[in-house]
Amino acid sequence: MRILLLGGTSEARTLAARLRPGIEVISSLAGRVPDPALPVGEVRIGGFGGADGLRKWLLDRPVDAVVDATHPYAATMTATATAVCAELGVPHLVLARPAWPPGDATVVRDDAEAAKTIAAQGHQRVFLTTGRSGAAAFKDVDAWFLIRAVTPPDAADLPSRHQVVLSRGPYRYDDELALLREHRIDALVTKNSGGTMTRPKLDAAAELGVAVVMVDRPPLPAGVRTVASVDAAVDWVTDTTR
Ligand code: NAP
Repeated sequence: MRILLLGGTSEARTLAARLRPGIEVISSLAGRVPDPALPVGEVRIGGFGGADGLRKWLLDRPVDAVVDATHPYAATMTATATAVCAELGVPHLVLARPAWPPGDATVVRDDAEAAKTIAAQGHQRVFLTTGRSGAAAFKDVDAWFLIRAVTPPDAADLPSRHQVVLSRGPYRYDDELALLREHRIDALVTKNSGGTMTRPKLDAAAELGVAVVMVDRPPLPAGVRTVASVDAAVDWVTDTTR
């Protein structure tokens, strides 16, 4: 029994480990970050080449199921896998970690709306944690930005007043609190990634009364089968490949 596991998350790594040794897992990573945390078992890295590429890959290396445990914002990969699996009749599951309750955050649709909200609310010192590709939307916002990303954003895409911090979670509450204080942050912009690894920034913002602008998750494709935990994904794979 063999599955293709679309990964890049801690849940995907846990799932790969949990399914061994009974099920052969081929994990796939986008290859966005240098030196990624690797799951156990076989790993392939890099895009497939759109729907045509994934279709060819699945025809060359048939699997009993595909589990999509990519980041909740990896909407293109999820849409492609959903469509190709439906077309080929390959059982398909999305493992999506639960979203954070937004609390008092201003929830917006995308990075552009987040930038408009920051400008409209008049924030001056903004902690931007939406990733290297999310910073460009803030280029023309008149505020100072602390931009945290795993890999360096393109300098040409950044707002004129900023500082970049390169780092990768997990983050600790005390460190997040110190960072917000040190830079006198008055607003945090974040995705709704869910999980515990990047959650402490929200708790620190709540403690300090820092406003939060939260970019909502892209919707999942209609009708896709979804579970919210690694346990449920293990059960589904076990049943499906029995
Ligand atoms: P995406 O926009 O859905 O994917 C773009 C392309 O990357 C896909 O079409 C596919 O290329 C390739 N790809 C993505 N995941 C793959 C996988 N597991 N295996 C093989 N190829 C894969 O996803 P993304 O570019 O990875 O990220 C989209 C958003 O999610 C970004 O905003 C990013 O910042 C965010 N994200 C955040 C985190 C995090 O915060 N930890 C982690 C990952 C992503 P082909 O079409 O060529 O197959």
